Amino acid sequence: MAEFDPHILEEKAVPPPEGFSRRARVGSLADYRKLYQRASEDPEGFWSEQAELLHWFKAPTQTLAWNPPHARWFHDGTLNVSYNCLDRHVQLHPQRTAMHWEAEDGQRVTLSYTDLYEKTCRCANALKKLGVKSGDCVTIYMPLIPQLAVAMLACARIGAMHSVVFGGFSAPALSDRMLDAKSRVLITADGGYRRGRIIPLKDTADTAVGKCPQVEKVLVVRRTGEKIKWHEGRDVWWHELVDAASSLAPAEPFPAEHPFFVLYTSGTTGKPKGVLHTSAGYLLQTMWSTRLVFDLREEDVYWCTADIGWVTGHSYLVYGPLACGATLVMYEGAPDFPVKDRFWQIVDRYKVSIFYSSATAVRAFMSWGRELLEKHDLSSLRLLGTVGEPINPAAWKWYHAIVGKGRCPIVDTWWQTETGSILISPLPGATPAKAGSATLPLPGVAARVLRMDGSEVVPGETGYLVIEQPWPSMMRTIYGDDERFKRDYWSRIPGKYFTGDAAQCDKDGYIWVLGRVDDVIKVAGHRLSSMEIESALVSHAAVAEAAVVARPDEIKGEAIVVFCTLRMGFSADEQLRAQISDHVANVIGTIARPAEVRFADLLPKTRSGKIMRRLLRELAHKGSVSGDTTTLEDFSSIEKLAREVGHDEE
Ligand code: ATP
Ligand code: MG
Repeated sequence: MAEFDPHILEEKAVPPPEGFSRRARVGSLADYRKLYQRASEDPEGFWSEQAELLHWFKAPTQTLAWNPPHARWFHDGTLNVSYNCLDRHVQLHPQRTAMHWEAEDGQRVTLSYTDLYEKTCRCANALKKLGVKSGDCVTIYMPLIPQLAVAMLACARIGAMHSVVFGGFSAPALSDRMLDAKSRVLITADGGYRRGRIIPLKDTADTAVGKCPQVEKVLVVRRTGEKIKWHEGRDVWWHELVDAASSLAPAEPFPAEHPFFVLYTSGTTGKPKGVLHTSAGYLLQTMWSTRLVFDLREEDVYWCTADIGWVTGHSYLVYGPLACGATLVMYEGAPDFPVKDRFWQIVDRYKVSIFYSSATAVRAFMSWGRELLEKHDLSSLRLLGTVGEPINPAAWKWYHAIVGKGRCPIVDTWWQTETGSILISPLPGATPAKAGSATLPLPGVAARVLRMDGSEVVPGETGYLVIEQPWPSMMRTIYGDDERFKRDYWSRIPGKYFTGDAAQCDKDGYIWVLGRVDDVIKVAGHRLSSMEIESALVSHAAVAEAAVVARPDEIKGEAIVVFCTLRMGFSADEQLRAQISDHVANVIGTIARPAEVRFADLLPKTRSGKIMRRLLRELAHKGSVSGDTTTLEDFSSIEKLAREVGHDEE
């Protein structure tokens, strides 16, 4: 099949700032390459050395037992995850700040490592009183408040698994996940805040628990103080049980492969899957990658803006930074509430030095305008990160110039719920960045871009992103469905981990993740990535955000349909429609000229902020949407789009 040579591959490399490299853990591309080579020649030796970052009750003598596709890492070692995140830091620096938490309404709480440790011990004792045992799975459905991290760490302390369900999910989404995880205990709150409104979490939880006969106890944090329904015998107040429990709870040793947590993927591609992670491998690789990718140091103030309901919040808001003994910021609310510069106020207030956010957030900041940033002192920032979707080069450059003032390296981190930790990313002091590329795999990660027959693509050719060797934080299975685990991830290209993402590799070996395999469009024999056309669209002054899908076309095979939202001050009219089409044709070539351009107020997104092209594809084909929409953030966006489509076809 003829391949299209993407324009993005012409991006120039931006070297790391010299001052940054001088101090960084890995300070040059040559050092990165040495490390990479060392790890690929002897992966087990490499990972067993890294394993010294953890505190073990019994140090492992074995590194990897690989019975494809099932891996066991460090399996004769024992440890306790919460000991690694708390006790060892309390012993060294009891008063170090673990967390600055800011509520949406401005309330602030600062917790030292000792505070967090004591709260975790109390919660661990309370969970035991509720009958939670090692190996049970506790579901957690909470707003982004410190008790959420405490609940997770308490589960880890007693060897129970957790399944955190994002606080924006509906009752059916919650009950499906509780049933699948067989949870007998749910931890929730009376409510949460979102853009000034109260979200009645307990009501939703009550409805969900009504569908889950196995749930025996519901532990409830008082957050809003609103009146709620109370189920005697089942419901227990956090402030009564947890606050009264003892602050001593010795951390017991658990085997390295002890199940740690289940997390359901965001559902961009269909029915959510319960991804199972185990203890030591996951913790080691999240901690190790936090040190390497964010170059995290004692004096840093680190802020990952993700919700804990997503894997980014698990790995890089809670476990990675706490295992490193870092000082982190946690913010409860929305980026635009009550003002659109809320994030920059927070950066300024806590002197945040490392800021990790999503590609979708960067596009939103860009559409709100640079004036919002100019009011704030952002000089504390030294490193920026992005995750979640390919970042369009125009958004990358804006982030670099306007937020980072050209001074901060950007780490574009590629990874998945399934991979547990970042696998492809620049090392900020070593890897020259290219806007829109996650660049090179981390040491120990055998990432390749292959054709379906297993052979390697040539530069400019689109292929499948795979990982060829096991890594410590890899998912162990899909909870309760090992067959699906083998089928979805390990049989497409036999023996290799199939990520489901389409990618290219350029002449420097840089990996360009183009989006999901399903999102690649074929026009007149050319394969185009939705990401590339979207990047061209976002580089037009009027376009804030764009999603590109294909619909069947008798002549060309597939035709390109564009959905886009506009930046402030532009109006949706025929003239702009034509201009936008011309712009895409100019930037990429006439082959990529859209067949249709549709304007929208909002694009349908998952609650983690990813564009749901699956729904747009359905809309472009059929004019309506019937697929699973439980993970959609705002259903009205898809309804409005459907109406617009209907209107156009009249
Ligand atoms: P589901 O698997 O249920 O559809 P999801 O894939 O959106 O949900 P996540 O595991 O949170 O859930 O997201 C991982 C995916 O996000 C990757 O497979 C990739 O498509 C995309 N992604 C993440 N980071 C990047 C990045 N830096 N560049 C490009 N794509 C990224
Ligand atoms: Mg996925």
